[in-house]
Amino acid sequence: MINYEKVLEKIAGVAGVEKEEIERRVEAKRAKLSGLISKEGAAQVIAAELGINFDNEKLKIDELLPGMRKVNTVGKIITLFPVREFNKNGKEGKVANMVMADDTSNIKVVLWDINHIGLIESGEVKEGSSVEISNASMRDNEIHLGSFSEFKKSDKVFETVNSEISSKEKNIANFANMDNVKVRAFIMQVFDPRFFNVCPECKRKVNQEGEGFICSGEHGKVIPEKRSLINIVIDDGTETIRSVLFHENISTLGLSDLENVESMTKQKQELLGKEMFFSGNVRKNKLFNNMEFIIDRAEDVDVDALIKELEE
Ligand SMILES: [Zn+2]
Repeated sequence: MINYEKVLEKIAGVAGVEKEEIERRVEAKRAKLSGLISKEGAAQVIAAELGINFDNEKLKIDELLPGMRKVNTVGKIITLFPVREFNKNGKEGKVANMVMADDTSNIKVVLWDINHIGLIESGEVKEGSSVEISNASMRDNEIHLGSFSEFKKSDKVFETVNSEISSKEKNIANFANMDNVKVRAFIMQVFDPRFFNVCPECKRKVNQEGEGFICSGEHGKVIPEKRSLINIVIDDGTETIRSVLFHENISTLGLSDLENVESMTKQKQELLGKEMFFSGNVRKNKLFNNMEFIIDRAEDVDVDALIKELEE
């Protein structure tokens, strides 16, 4: 959403028309294509029609959109993961992952070319290095570099970088393991809250022993702290996902007095079918081999705030 707004501004700026006009054209294009194209995709089509080419233009990280090709950008490596070797269909290869940031945002970068990876293996490019990327492509919300891409050290100095993980808006159907996402969806099912005891010091599990409780860590006999969790199922029209909210995050759903069965029955009923924004992390549940959404925050869909955000 942030990216989309940025791109609208960029197109409007270059084309010398109002942003609202570009937005109208984007909507018209989408209507013509029966909504088969995303807003981001339609914006790129409109840009092309206006003769605006993002190819070979150096873009800030928050201006990058899924689907872009010939991406050029520069940033500072804030996290460098160890180079991994893989064997796929009998073919051996290496892949390197990193997170690169500039003053606007940060993004995952994936290197597939042995020459690029060599710069990391030799230590020429390391965490903290600034790097310039040319001719890369966007796969979802990641920059991927193949053998036609360029990857080199840059002299650019970044005084400050935006290393905050931003929740990307994503459809549930496109959720992937480890994603930090925000989605607008309906609540389809609400399960009864569950309660469990933890050690007040280390938050680890406690085991009951007679009348007392023993920390499973090193705190011995403790007075346990009661924690709660609640499972819900949400649906955004593309897919449903089983989700969980822990203790202090449950109140963001508007739920209170969790142990009052009568009140909970009523509150659960009221939540069914409600549309909200959900932010959190996607995790693969290894036991069941499915995705689970760990929700940090649920927010009411505030139409006024949405309009305000668009205006900013
Ligand atoms: Zn403990």
